Amino acid sequence: MNIIPLPAFTDNYIWLLHDGVGALVVDPGDAQPVLDFLQREGLRLQAILVTHHHPDHTAGVDALREATGAPVWGPVRERMPEPLTRVTGGDHVHALGLDFKIMDVPGHTAGHIAYYCDQLDGAPLLFCGDTLFSGGCGRLFEGTPAQMLASLDTLAALPGATRVCCTHEYTLANLRFAMAVEPDNAALTNYFSACQSLRQQQRPTLPSTLTLELQINPFLRSRLPALMTAARAFDAQATDEVSAFGALRQWKNQF
Ligand code: ZN
Ligand code: FE
Repeated sequence: MNIIPLPAFTDNYIWLLHDGVGALVVDPGDAQPVLDFLQREGLRLQAILVTHHHPDHTAGVDALREATGAPVWGPVRERMPEPLTRVTGGDHVHALGLDFKIMDVPGHTAGHIAYYCDQLDGAPLLFCGDTLFSGGCGRLFEGTPAQMLASLDTLAALPGATRVCCTHEYTLANLRFAMAVEPDNAALTNYFSACQSLRQQQRPTLPSTLTLELQINPFLRSRLPALMTAARAFDAQATDEVSAFGALRQWKNQF
């Protein structure tokens, strides 16, 4: 299976899986890059998966559905381009010969879902939309810090080898913040240099893996003493796990 991040807008990726014949896309905010790729490679679109309602993830859905007839899946609790099949945590989507388990990951939006395939060419694969980014997490537009922390805990419990397919190339900016929070983390500074050279060659920093994220992502590490201390330095009230996480998110917003 080929796993391809199609660049869209300034920093989005539309993830596309294909086996040389059929294809699946995730969060097509724009139809054109997908249509161009399908045509160039001679692929038939078989499924469109959507993680949440923001236009940079949904605006290409109607055009792709009309052009290809591909079925669409998306979250139950959000406004979506109809028609689609709505799915929620614990449901499964079968597409392109793969089985995706749906996980509820509210926080960025109230009904945000993720798609998890536990076996794809030897390792799991996760489409997590705007919930988990490499070195960061989504902004809390509709959810609370407690919800986002719980959602990230759910994702962090997946196998370490899970490939993390996020919808934005935010890695370098996230890592600059992460290094401010955790200046003594050597894995983090090494990863930053590796990502810098990838970006200089205009290559994606994604997919990441959960093992790596657990080493470098402050939003997956917020309970560690060094991060609790850093959060409290930003906000003296942030003494418990949830408020420390919320303080980190707040700090990132104004970083
Ligand atoms: Zn979003
Ligand atoms: Fe987005």
